[in-house]
Amino acid sequence: MSRLTHLECTRCGEHYPADRPQSVCPKDGGILYARYDLAAVRRSFSPARLAERAPTMWRYDAVLPEADPVSLGEGFTPMLASRELANVFIKDEGLNPTGSFKARGLSAAVTMARHFGLKNLAIPSAGNAASALAAYAAAAKLEAHIFMPKDVPAANRIECDYYGAHVTLVDGLISDCARKVAELKASESSKNEGWFDVSTTKEPYRVEGKKTMGYEVAEQLGWKLPQGIIYPTGGGVGLLGMWKAFEEMEALGWIGAERPKMITVQSAGCAPIVKAWDEGKATSEMWPQAETLAAGLRVPKPYGDYLILDILKKSKGTAVAATDDEILEATRHWAKVEGIFAAPEGAASQVAYRKLRASNFFKPEDTVVLFNTGSGLKYLDVLDTSVERTLLSAKPAARKPATRQIGGIIGPY
Ligand SMILES: [Zn+2]
Repeated sequence: MSRLTHLECTRCGEHYPADRPQSVCPKDGGILYARYDLAAVRRSFSPARLAERAPTMWRYDAVLPEADPVSLGEGFTPMLASRELANVFIKDEGLNPTGSFKARGLSAAVTMARHFGLKNLAIPSAGNAASALAAYAAAAKLEAHIFMPKDVPAANRIECDYYGAHVTLVDGLISDCARKVAELKASESSKNEGWFDVSTTKEPYRVEGKKTMGYEVAEQLGWKLPQGIIYPTGGGVGLLGMWKAFEEMEALGWIGAERPKMITVQSAGCAPIVKAWDEGKATSEMWPQAETLAAGLRVPKPYGDYLILDILKKSKGTAVAATDDEILEATRHWAKVEGIFAAPEGAASQVAYRKLRASNFFKPEDTVVLFNTGSGLKYLDVLDTSVERTLLSAKPAARKPATRQIGGIIGPY
């Protein structure tokens, strides 16, 4: 059913074969996008046939690479109408396997890694991508090699241990972890064992997994796109993926030329895209001393920044920053009012929505989808510091991740 034809560089447009493992464009480091024979898919598949399919992201396999999926039931997460705000929907990605949207990208990446016969997958990560890789590698009987800073939040470290991943705790920052992976990749023995780096946007298929969020937004809203999508943006893979999905769906005749305004929300303590957007730049600058309790937003310079900023511009969207205090308040508010215990990153989208309503960017009648990217259960040691009597730690202040400074590019992106 799949019609994957080639990979295409998002910078120079060069084509590369899709029948072997690929990283980024060797010429200019551009991110490679999977391209399909959409005319053939259009002739042979219609969205009406989706109704009979399993409620996972693999229901869209007509527009995914042709390979035996490594699936734990990821995707097709609930699109919940807000109980507080009219015309607002919350797409709850916290219900994915491993409790975050990272499941989608790593299901796709591990599927392709197994398809290509790779055995050892490596990732530098301090976040939810680590546990997602560990889970999918376990399901695929592949080895996951995870390099995390010593002081990562507890949930991801414990999960990786239980999934049987090889965890190396690095006495340093995420950038030191990334350097370790690069060294291992380059070593002779690792070549023999088929080491492969599944860092975000350094391989083409995590975007393919994440793009299914765009297909779901359309399907769950009756093939009518909303006026806005607010997306917590660390590496921004989901933003790239959804925009790609909209272009594909238009080519397939599933939607028209309409597009939602795409909104990036970042933490005020690490907001490289917001800064670049405000200054009208086409790329971002490394954010010095990135600092926020929303670990997934501690990405000082997203690799795909040039694509993110282009999408904001094309969609007439914008970029908004939320402080840690605003994010914590929003996390608690969603839990109380919506019954959703969100990841802090996800709750940031609520902060952005309120700001954009206050500035009249969005009207009350605009349909807006807010992405909750993960479950608050993954952040107990972070969120526990916000209550007066802490349950998990006698000395919360000493453990508070907000005080950590991260100097490199963060793994989950
Ligand atoms: Zn290129």
